[in-house]
Amino acid sequence: MARYIGAVCRQCRREGIKLYLKGDKCYSDKCAFSRRGYAPGQHGQGQARKKVSEYGLQLREKQRARRIYGILEKQFRNYFEKAERQKGITGENLLVMLERRLDNVVYRLGFASSRTQARQLVRHGHFVVNGHRVDIPSFMVKVGSTIQVKEESKETPVFKEIAEGLTHKTVPAWLELSAQDMVGKVVRYPAREEIDIPIQEHLIVELYSR
Ligand code: SF4
Repeated sequence: MARYIGAVCRQCRREGIKLYLKGDKCYSDKCAFSRRGYAPGQHGQGQARKKVSEYGLQLREKQRARRIYGILEKQFRNYFEKAERQKGITGENLLVMLERRLDNVVYRLGFASSRTQARQLVRHGHFVVNGHRVDIPSFMVKVGSTIQVKEESKETPVFKEIAEGLTHKTVPAWLELSAQDMVGKVVRYPAREEIDIPIQEHLIVELYSR
């Protein structure tokens, strides 16, 4: 499957916000955005002064959302089209769908330090959903789904380290976590105000409705 392979921190600098794509590094003084919080490239420092068109704002917002969840354009567009067909507010439907991706839920439960790491761990087959091994990061969890770290995987150094961090982990109210067993459950779908991403989703809807 296609994926973005460029320099990860450039994406934060391009979007003008921290996207938290590199796990612990994002919270340290090694964060590239904290050190150089302007757009990458030769003219990056001058870009903050440039007037941005309405279209530019809408496009930027869509790119931000895409990059936060690590999704390529075509798949993102597919999510939007599905969200449009659902009842309710399209922008909110879109975000709820993105939150329901297995890689995001693994990240939210604290089984990975970033969505990027979550995606990699899912692909390597470390998780079991409702008793079955699932290695598809875009797999959509449902209300009642249980997500757990595979027994054998718990013994690996990476999960031993993750397990230590779970003891103080707080998860969103729509999820439940049993840190000791490394098992999570989807209690319900999130409400918009529970999705803590800095995105104005109406701009994305406006962009795709042009
Ligand atoms: Fe973004 Fe994290 Fe890189 Fe900082 S360290 S620029 S938050 S990906």
